[in-house]
Parts: sequence; C-alpha cells; structure tokens
Amino acid sequence: MSKSLTPSPDDAFEMLITGNQRFVTGTPEHPNQDAARRAETAPAQSPFAVMFGCSDSRLAAEIIFDQGLGDLFVVRTAGHVVGSEVLGSIEYGVSVLDCPLVVVLGHDSCGAIAAASAAADGGRAPSGFVRDVVERVTPSVLAARAAGRESADEILHEHIRHTVDLLLERSRILAERVAAGRLAVAGLSYRLADGSAQLVASHGLTRTAVPAG
Ligand SMILES: [Zn+2]
Repeated sequence: MSKSLTPSPDDAFEMLITGNQRFVTGTPEHPNQDAARRAETAPAQSPFAVMFGCSDSRLAAEIIFDQGLGDLFVVRTAGHVVGSEVLGSIEYGVSVLDCPLVVVLGHDSCGAIAAASAAADGGRAPSGFVRDVVERVTPSVLAARAAGRESADEILHEHIRHTVDLLLERSRILAERVAAGRLAVAGLSYRLADGSAQLVASHGLTRTAVPAG
C-alpha cells in the first residue's frame, strides 16, 4: 500500500476549487469513483480536505467539488453548527488522517440561518433539538446586525466567518497546525443556483486572498 504525499494547504485548496469550477461549468470528470479507486482506498484513506458543511441536500460535497472516494472527509450539520462531536470529527481528519485543509461550507437560502433570523425577530423558537441548532446560529445573526450588515448574504458570510473562528478558538490542534503552516482553515459561500463556491474567510492560505467586502 502506498500512501500518497500530503499536499500543501494551498495545493489542497486549489484541487478543491478546480473541482468546483468543473462542476460549475458542467464539465465534471467524476474522478476516483471507479472500482480501481475503491480497491486502492479500501486499506487506508488519505483525504486531502475536511469538508464541514451544512447538511442541506443540495450541498452534496463530492458532487459540487467533483471529487470521489477517499478525497474528502465530510462532516455536516444543519447550519454547520459546531458541537463537541463536530470538533472531534474535524480533529480526527486533521490529526489522524493528516488533512492539510479544513473547509467550512455555507450557502445561500440556508434554512437554519433563516430560522435563526426569524427567531431573532421575535418569532417562535422551534421545538425539540431543532432549537439547539437555531440557538447556535443566532450569535452570527446578532453580530451581523449589530455591525449593520443586514442582507441575507452579509448574515451568511458572518456565520461562515464566525464558524471558522470558532473552530480555531475551540480546537488547539487546529490552531497549532495553522500556526505551524501545516493546515489552512477556509470558509466558502456556496450559491445554490450556479453551484459556485466563493472564499469568504481563510487562515493559513498563502496564495489565495479573501476579496474585500
Ligand atoms: Zn443550510
């Protein structure tokens, strides 16, 4: 069994964005989805990125980034809210599987963000454990509004940035790897209609700058 060389954080990010561009333009290659890849990855996995995204059914990670078996270590929760199981899963991908990249993937028309916005407006809080999800999105909604950023996109981007910062605040393993140049943590905003993913936050990428605004 040969373990492929771990790419740099920048190279991993480029692999991901290149795959997304293939998906956007309707020219996917569907790589690493055949029986040979299945056999190759059965003994061990070495994914090149941890994908932490919203559970939304339209955010299927391997499809929208045109990847295959063994490429992405995927963790998804509604509204990409963070709890201890999420942190443990991401840390596993980074410290045990040696992923050089963690991506937070949010998207427009996110139901969890809409519910948190409605609750912040005085609407009824949802019942059951859905309330727990909404309550974990609410700080992002309130922070965006306090800063005068009221549009849906601005609230979404605030929540993505907040999630990236939360991962680095809560996980010493992630923060240390970023400081050592071995890991990047990036926040991407996905547009459902055209399938594109835009960088809105990053720590540890050197080739790619987050556009202003
Ligand atoms: Zn969502």
